[in-house]
Amino acid sequence: MQKQSKDQQWQDALSGILQEFEQGTIPEAIALAMFPTADIPSAKWSLLNRLLMVMAGTGDARGIKQWNQVGRRVKKGAHAFRIFAPRFIKIKSQNLSKSTEGEDLESAATAETKEKKRIVGFLLIPVFRVEDTEGEPLTYEALEVPDLPLMEVAGAWGLEVKAIPGNNRIYGCFSPSAGRISLASPEEKVFFHELAHAAHSRTGLLEERAKWQREMVAELSAAVLCRVCGRQPDENLGETFSYLEQESKKAGLPVTQACLTVLSDVEATLNLVFSAAKCTDAVPAGEKMREVA
Ligand SMILES: [Zn+2]
Repeated sequence: MQKQSKDQQWQDALSGILQEFEQGTIPEAIALAMFPTADIPSAKWSLLNRLLMVMAGTGDARGIKQWNQVGRRVKKGAHAFRIFAPRFIKIKSQNLSKSTEGEDLESAATAETKEKKRIVGFLLIPVFRVEDTEGEPLTYEALEVPDLPLMEVAGAWGLEVKAIPGNNRIYGCFSPSAGRISLASPEEKVFFHELAHAAHSRTGLLEERAKWQREMVAELSAAVLCRVCGRQPDENLGETFSYLEQESKKAGLPVTQACLTVLSDVEATLNLVFSAAKCTDAVPAGEKMREVA
């Protein structure tokens, strides 16, 4: 087989993927793998709070008391981030004259002292990242980012790539301010997706784009990266398609049309990644096969 240039390889991969979307020859979507969910307080948090936690670049955050209970303490100088906790007030139904609208008159007539809870707002609770604590070891500390292709690109851009416990919802996150990619999944596609967000942000185009466009750029770029550099090239293409379909719906567009609207961003993103990457020329096809096995 003739050796193709990097540029030609990814351009062929991109047009090949778009063609398959157009023709509807998409493999079935297979759910992505996640790192094990740890038995920790945040496993019971709301989606918003778990998102705040992932944005803070950690997979485990707790209040000071909670850390102390497991034999750890917060390091000096560490900064907390805040999560939302609903604030309740207790309402006694006997106190009807003082209570507000909508109270049940009948229950007052029975003169029972029932207590009800009502949400009256939210409190901001300070919590600390596990990385900012020390003490007794935790069972899941062994989580490690697998040796993924294109890791050198993240390194060249000064990005930290770290593994966080699974959370049933968010596979990964790129935090531009912290220069960090957090992965709750060992899948290469998840890493490629976050790396593409990082590259897109480096193109200077990301800021001007809507959320659905950013997600489409990252996901479509990741599919190309899987095909050109991945060890399981098209394993997640079905999942990619359903992700893109979901994002396209937000814009009220069919998938292929939505892909075309972000195509120039995808090209700029991939250009950046491949100019920093070593993968395409380095791994001959035979070696790729061995790695799969
Ligand atoms: Zn994303």
